[in-house]
Amino acid sequence: MPAVNKICCIGAGYVGGPTCAVIALKCPHIQVTIVDINQARIDAWNSKDYKLPIYEPGLEDVVREARGRNLFFSTDVDKGIQEADLIFVSVNTPTKKSGIGAGFAADLNYVELATRRIAAVSNSSKIVVEKSTVPCRTAESMRTILEANSPANCRFDILSNPEFLAEGTAVNDLFAPDRVLVGSLETPEGKVACDALTEIYANWVPRERILTPSVFLPVNALSAICEATGANIDEVAYAVGKDSRVGPSFLRASVGFGGSCFQKDILNLVYLSDSLHLPEVANYWRQNIAVLGFAFKADTGDTRESAAISLVRDFQAENANVNIYDPQVVHEQIWSDLSEACPTIPLTTLQKRVKIFSSALEACKNAEAVVIATEWKEFRDIDWNVVYLNMRKPAFVFDGRILLDADKLRNIGFKVTVIGRGEKL
Ligand code: ADP
Repeated sequence: MPAVNKICCIGAGYVGGPTCAVIALKCPHIQVTIVDINQARIDAWNSKDYKLPIYEPGLEDVVREARGRNLFFSTDVDKGIQEADLIFVSVNTPTKKSGIGAGFAADLNYVELATRRIAAVSNSSKIVVEKSTVPCRTAESMRTILEANSPANCRFDILSNPEFLAEGTAVNDLFAPDRVLVGSLETPEGKVACDALTEIYANWVPRERILTPSVFLPVNALSAICEATGANIDEVAYAVGKDSRVGPSFLRASVGFGGSCFQKDILNLVYLSDSLHLPEVANYWRQNIAVLGFAFKADTGDTRESAAISLVRDFQAENANVNIYDPQVVHEQIWSDLSEACPTIPLTTLQKRVKIFSSALEACKNAEAVVIATEWKEFRDIDWNVVYLNMRKPAFVFDGRILLDADKLRNIGFKVTVIGRGEKL
């Protein structure tokens, strides 16, 4: 296995900076150069008085110890790329402002540009690690770019290594990660690259916490990917359940798992369905959707952090009509949550597109898709035959809580998708 002697990190931001500073600290035998096109940012990382461009508790100590020893910050991106055996791509992935997925899908232009730069200037083989907080398929598109543009005698092996830090505790998270995921292709070369990155983390992370699932798995899109690619949700759930930010509750895949990640994730199903060439599904989702459940979990009227809020907001972004029913949450609460979540939409407009009903049957009437957003037991006991008769066809059920008997629903005629399961519609 080729030992990694030199690492380059493209992007000196919240992810790349702390991650690669800690790698440098923990691996004094590896030279780590963090490059960025932003001169001011690099100057701050290099500042004499350690006025670093980002604040994270403990970060300054890390930089004080490693900077100048085996940790360097530079704006010479090309040189950083050329010298490195392994490159982290840690550039920004802002939310798209226009085009398909505007408002919620990540803009991958920066990733693409950085990847193209790697292809353009490399004169030796590299392991390229996708390290952004990006939705699925990024590593794949990086691979496409690199394979199409690789110079003679250079091979690029692409790994996906979802970031595992939370802002505010980045250094602690990096020192003692609950788990590190390294995704690679299941080729011999992919495995070698995977081992090389594993060896780096193994300098301080117990090996049983370094998990190597067999597909690229940006953690933000786990369930959605599982559905689209048929990846094994159990393996993934095991990995993510090891993450204390998520906790073992994730072991049951559910629409509620991601907190604020949620918006970018599952109910990007609309976007994912498009990008995975399932426009049929996306189109239906844009019409009239019944959302069953608005509380953050069953047996409560509490809506704080409820998945349903971001869900309905995302549907608004798609101009969908939404019918809501929840057995407990009072209507005023729903309106106030939605107003807060959609600050640019006047309440009167919102109330044209969103209707609140007092029974599940009414909410589902004329809908194209039903989404289970809260695991209220009563949703199991709805007369689904009646629901089916009153829905437009094909009638979709998206069970975000793994609550319903999918086979029974399929027998009735529904097209059923259960979160985290790889079934085809
Ligand atoms: P994150 O939170 O994902 O780390 P940030 O916005 O904090 O995102 O940091 C990303 C960094 O990547 C920025 O400092 C930006 O200047 C840098 N960057 C973006 N594109 C490139 C590129 N092609 N080459 C080098 N650095 C880049």
